[in-house]
Amino acid sequence: MPASTGTGVRIDSLSKTFSVGRKKVEALQDTTLYTDKGSFLSLLGPSGCGKSTILRILAGLEEATSGTAIVDGKTPQELRRDHELGIAFQDSALLPWRSVESNIRLPFQVSGAKADEPLVKELIKLVGLEGFEKAKPGQLSGGMRQRVSIARSLVVKPSVLLLDEPFGALDDMTRQRLNLELLRIWTEKPATTLMVTHGISEAIFLSDQVAVMSPRPGRVKEIITVDLPRPRTREMMRTPEFHALHDQASELLFGAGGAAVEENS
Ligand code: ADP
Ligand code: MG
Repeated sequence: MPASTGTGVRIDSLSKTFSVGRKKVEALQDTTLYTDKGSFLSLLGPSGCGKSTILRILAGLEEATSGTAIVDGKTPQELRRDHELGIAFQDSALLPWRSVESNIRLPFQVSGAKADEPLVKELIKLVGLEGFEKAKPGQLSGGMRQRVSIARSLVVKPSVLLLDEPFGALDDMTRQRLNLELLRIWTEKPATTLMVTHGISEAIFLSDQVAVMSPRPGRVKEIITVDLPRPRTREMMRTPEFHALHDQASELLFGAGGAAVEENS
């Protein structure tokens, strides 16, 4: 396994225990993950293995019980302060009273920067919401709202991108198209990226590394290095190398000792 420098993601012995009444839930136990700056890491694993907890800690929305989490040399607080973060979480709240375009513009206002209108337009086109610029979130489907939050996460060209099942509510066709588009944007300005997904193919297609996690307590079971060349193309998904990586991940998730159930794939 090539040594990752940890100049990107540097998560050291990270643990998180939630107290639920008198019960303790070990959401994350002693997790260590290193990646290089500007690399793409996916977290793959069954529900409840602590994937979102890692992202929420990196986003500064949750405090670790012990251990440290640094990205590009900065703590979550510093990343927030310096407006380096692009975040698209499943439950990313859009402001209900603001239109699609004004929700996508929001990060500029938060950071006090001038809105890059051509980019806002480009991203609206990218996520297929042309014609819905003036629509309010309440007038959109779940999948469309999710696409708004993907566009919003990319609008400040963040140096650190945190995506929690960003394509979860989308149909396969849209999902594949957005995977390719995300990759195109990401290649233009590689952000240090952490993405949670249930899709094995998607994880391998997009990533430099895939961390396969297991639950109770949440921990990293194995890290798969994806050494497919970039730029990645759709054709690569039909190569023996891709299939071998897919089999390796499936075996870790569903094989002997894999805790996941098939419906999570
Ligand atoms: P995943 O994203 O992999 O499905 P999570 O990180 O959301 O998993 O959750 C990991 C574990 O921690 C689960 O058992 C979940 O129930 C628990 N958990 C997450 N957030 C909280 C919370 N705020 N309070 C109590 N338990 C939580
Ligand atoms: Mg989750």
